[in-house]
Amino acid sequence: YSEEQEGVLQAYDWSAKLFHHVLKHTADGKAGLNYLKKRGFEPDTIEEFQLGYSPDRNEFLAAFLKGKGYELEQLADYGLVQSTNQGSYYDRFKDRVIFPIKNHQGKIIAFGGRAFKEHQEPKYLNSPESKLFHKGRVLYNFHLARKHFQKEKEVILFEGYMDVIKAYQAGVYNAVATLGTSLSETHAKTLKRYVKQAVICFDGDDAGRNASFKSANILRQAGLEVRVAHIPERQDPDEYIDRYGGEYFKQKVLQPAQTYIAFALEYYKKDYNLNLDHDRIAYIEKALDIIATSEYPVERDFHLKELEDTFHLNRETLMDEIEKRTSRIK
Ligand code: ATP
Ligand code: MN
Ligand code: MN
Ligand code: MN
Repeated sequence: YSEEQEGVLQAYDWSAKLFHHVLKHTADGKAGLNYLKKRGFEPDTIEEFQLGYSPDRNEFLAAFLKGKGYELEQLADYGLVQSTNQGSYYDRFKDRVIFPIKNHQGKIIAFGGRAFKEHQEPKYLNSPESKLFHKGRVLYNFHLARKHFQKEKEVILFEGYMDVIKAYQAGVYNAVATLGTSLSETHAKTLKRYVKQAVICFDGDDAGRNASFKSANILRQAGLEVRVAHIPERQDPDEYIDRYGGEYFKQKVLQPAQTYIAFALEYYKKDYNLNLDHDRIAYIEKALDIIATSEYPVERDFHLKELEDTFHLNRETLMDEIEKRTSRIK
């Protein structure tokens, strides 16, 4: 880190400690603390993730950091404070619960702030991109999760840090999330260096499903083996864990996560009207494309058998088509 960046890291660290203190020990922090309790956060979790609260005041953090001798102009570049047109600075995360965002070495490089009162928009406000915080590179909780990759043999990918923390609290330690952007090639390559398998566990709505497909392809491209979990009834992992607990989450959601091939075969069905002959044929061609990407003969055979049965096809034809496609791939 440059000297400037060392200073900013120190400022983030102090700010996180201050917000954490405010949350736990002051009258200002009461509402934020109650919100977290209501959402099922335990005291240990609040400690582990250094959650905090930024008071409903314009210049609380700004005054604190100024008192520490900082140039607020510089800190504004790193999203700690916000500048006005008049050249003054005010608190960016005013009246929000604070989630410190750490880089892969465990240093705080950004904040996420969640609104929890009515009419407060947007729901989440993150620090902007800076020389320290690149959304396309950093994964939330990576520095803790990496220690568990080897034992668990896989990484779990969530949509939000709320999901990561809830899972952690419930005993699922090998999880990370992107920070309000979709998964990048860089994210995937980073993960590939530490772990061979990934389980995508996004929100159970259509947006989550579409994002799952996109992220699955990126992870697979980077050489990871991918499975996709499904959360029923359009819940998200955090709601599911609140309702059913960690063991159930492991047993009913993570464990039965679909293989990439099974997920993709199902995912593509939405693009075809399988009651129409020409669409059925087009879907079968698509399905063969997908099955051919499996490097496992047994997996290919398994899904060919399914196609054969579902669409009353001839096995030889299917085998020939796979042969054509795999020789093209190689
Ligand atoms: P909660 O349970 O508190 O509603 P969530 O994790 O379910 O949180 P989602 O709406 O599913 O929230 O969003 C997932 C992630 O997307 C968040 O963790 C955040 O990083 C990002 N995000 C959501 N809304 C916004 C927003 N308005 N601006 C920036 N990022 C956002
Ligand atoms: Mn969502
Ligand atoms: Mn969600
Ligand atoms: Mn949620």
